[in-house]
Amino acid sequence: MVRKTLVVVLTIVLVVVGAFSQVMALDLKEEIELGKEVFRKIQETYRFLNSPEVNYYVMELGNRLSKHVAPAPYKYQFFVIDNDVPNAFTIPGGYVFVNTGLICLMAKEGELASVLAHELGHAEARHIHRQLEQQKPLMVASLAAILAGALIGNPQLAQAITAGSMGGAQTIALSYSRDHEREADQIGLRILQATGYPPSDAPSAMQRLAQRQWQGRPGNYDYLMSHPGVVERVGYLSEIAAKLKGSGENKSLDPGLFPYAKITILGLKNDNHGLDRLINDASQLGYDSSVVAFARGVKALGYGDFSNAVAYLDKAWQSQKGNFFIAPKLADVFVRQRQFDRAKAVLSQALSLSPEHPVLHYRYGTILEEEGSFSQALEHYEKALPASDLLPDIEYHMGTTLGKLGKLREAHTYLGDYYAKIGDQRLAVFHYEKAISFASSQADKEQIQSKLRKLKGKEEREQPKENPRTFPNIPTRRGM
Ligand SMILES: [Zn+2]
Repeated sequence: MVRKTLVVVLTIVLVVVGAFSQVMALDLKEEIELGKEVFRKIQETYRFLNSPEVNYYVMELGNRLSKHVAPAPYKYQFFVIDNDVPNAFTIPGGYVFVNTGLICLMAKEGELASVLAHELGHAEARHIHRQLEQQKPLMVASLAAILAGALIGNPQLAQAITAGSMGGAQTIALSYSRDHEREADQIGLRILQATGYPPSDAPSAMQRLAQRQWQGRPGNYDYLMSHPGVVERVGYLSEIAAKLKGSGENKSLDPGLFPYAKITILGLKNDNHGLDRLINDASQLGYDSSVVAFARGVKALGYGDFSNAVAYLDKAWQSQKGNFFIAPKLADVFVRQRQFDRAKAVLSQALSLSPEHPVLHYRYGTILEEEGSFSQALEHYEKALPASDLLPDIEYHMGTTLGKLGKLREAHTYLGDYYAKIGDQRLAVFHYEKAISFASSQADKEQIQSKLRKLKGKEEREQPKENPRTFPNIPTRRGM
């Protein structure tokens, strides 16, 4: 076993060293290309949270924070990874990721905001960029594979990096230095305060992360591994925050929608213990009765207790009809009881309050699809489609709905897009080829063929001919 591991590591080292061929100063265009490549790997390899509501919430929170980051040539984007390990990280090109485990560890919006603001601090200070510049030049594709593995946990790739450092190359972006942490903290505090959260939320978030250190050994790819010095950060963050005290505390942004996001995640994980703790701590945390009713409703739904679920969720909904967490959850209980009219009534009221909300359009579409109203469902999916990054399976729903309507070329194209997005090359190719067989015009055919070429080209880039064993261990994502 040990010997086998060594052989694998050595093979990868040789491949990495072999890739030191092309001189590369990481300019802006390459940084963006690298970011896209790493993002694709993360998207193909890791499960993004299948909750459009939570995804939308985190993106929206991130957008408010990133208004206070130094101007960048790209738009910052925020994504939630479905993983219990508390972690958050950023990659070149403005992508910021947070795991569900970290969201659940936090108690208020300002704490989550402080972690995202710290990641924006790493991005603004270009820490990864600066580390990459110190490396011997690697090709973008190799860098992307290494970065993706280092940041989110592929043991084989991580070994390659460790081995690479023994072979003379430096560790690549596996963890930040303490100086980088301090710099990101300073920028993060500035962003946090400018957005309107109390600076004291930063040390309290760090305290929650640090506490885990005494509760057992952190797992791999934990925040504690990639962000050193958490305990000393609690100390200096408290000192700085105390000096800044007074500012940023009047806008009362908390609790905002944070507890609804956390409850939604706990519900998806059937974490009744977590839901009970949240309900018990509600008044201490400043959560109102609507939050508590939502938590009780989600918990009842988890038990399949529809009558209590309706009672609690309706109570929450009556006090906040525009809340995009509550309305879809209440509608979902009605759908499970095949009460489509009641489900549609709830969502159309929510939509009348926020007519452009992509999550509400998506949810409305799924109800219509389930009811069998396919052409109406399609209209709502099309309105949600611009936010497809936040809606993990919208292409799948577009595909099945178009299929029911007999539009087979479009249906297979969307299904191909869906499987390409989740990294299932075989099914993606299957659907694109089906789509070509249904295409009537040359232009349609060419459009799908170019998608196929892109897919196959990617495969070739990842597996160079001279050594087909380059990074063979990137796990593919399994289903939804
Ligand atoms: Zn950090």
